[in-house]
Amino acid sequence: MSKRKIVDSGKGEPQSKKTAGHWSQGLYAAVSDESLHVYSDDDLVIIKDKYPKAKYHYLVLPKVKIANLKALDKSHIPLLTKMYDRAADLTKDCSVKKFRYGYHAIPSMGLLHLHAISQDFNSPSLKTKKHWNSFTTDYFVDSHKLIEMLKSHGKVNDMSHHSKLLSEDLRCHVCKTTIKNMPTLKTHIQTCFKDS
Ligand code: AMP
Repeated sequence: MSKRKIVDSGKGEPQSKKTAGHWSQGLYAAVSDESLHVYSDDDLVIIKDKYPKAKYHYLVLPKVKIANLKALDKSHIPLLTKMYDRAADLTKDCSVKKFRYGYHAIPSMGLLHLHAISQDFNSPSLKTKKHWNSFTTDYFVDSHKLIEMLKSHGKVNDMSHHSKLLSEDLRCHVCKTTIKNMPTLKTHIQTCFKDS
């Protein structure tokens, strides 16, 4: 495991004294806490999501401080590609095979993070419509799509209008049927999701 400290890239918003201890800055602390790392190298760490929304839910965090998607430019493409590659390596032997790897359009936590999430969505922490829609609508931006955006525009498109996606009707991510509430949806996906 690398002992390197995270370094500030000079891009993105540094933590102010006001926000340093706030819950939304918890991922910065996770980078320095080796006990949380399931993988670490010179450039990134992978941790388990503290409130997993599926059987397997990891967060890939860069060691260099990148506050959010707005701070990204073309120079970050090799790092983002590596974040995806390491997440795919880590998850290839999981008992669930279907995964998605991506970013929330409007993240709640500071420090850029890639979600690697299995598509069973079988977890007690998955409770709300907001949780569901954040992983199953266009609010969830696949890693490949984000990298393509950077390649073609040099920056990530403004996605502030994506917040409305969180209040859309619940829809099964497999059969696309509209479902009336979260308990019904959770029962439905137990049979509708097939991992093959
Ligand atoms: P988002 O910022 O919306 O992309 O998602 C943040 C993710 O971080 C959520 O899936 C949370 O469950 C997770 N989370 C929140 N606090 C922590 C923490 N201290 N350590 C690990 N994961 C966290």
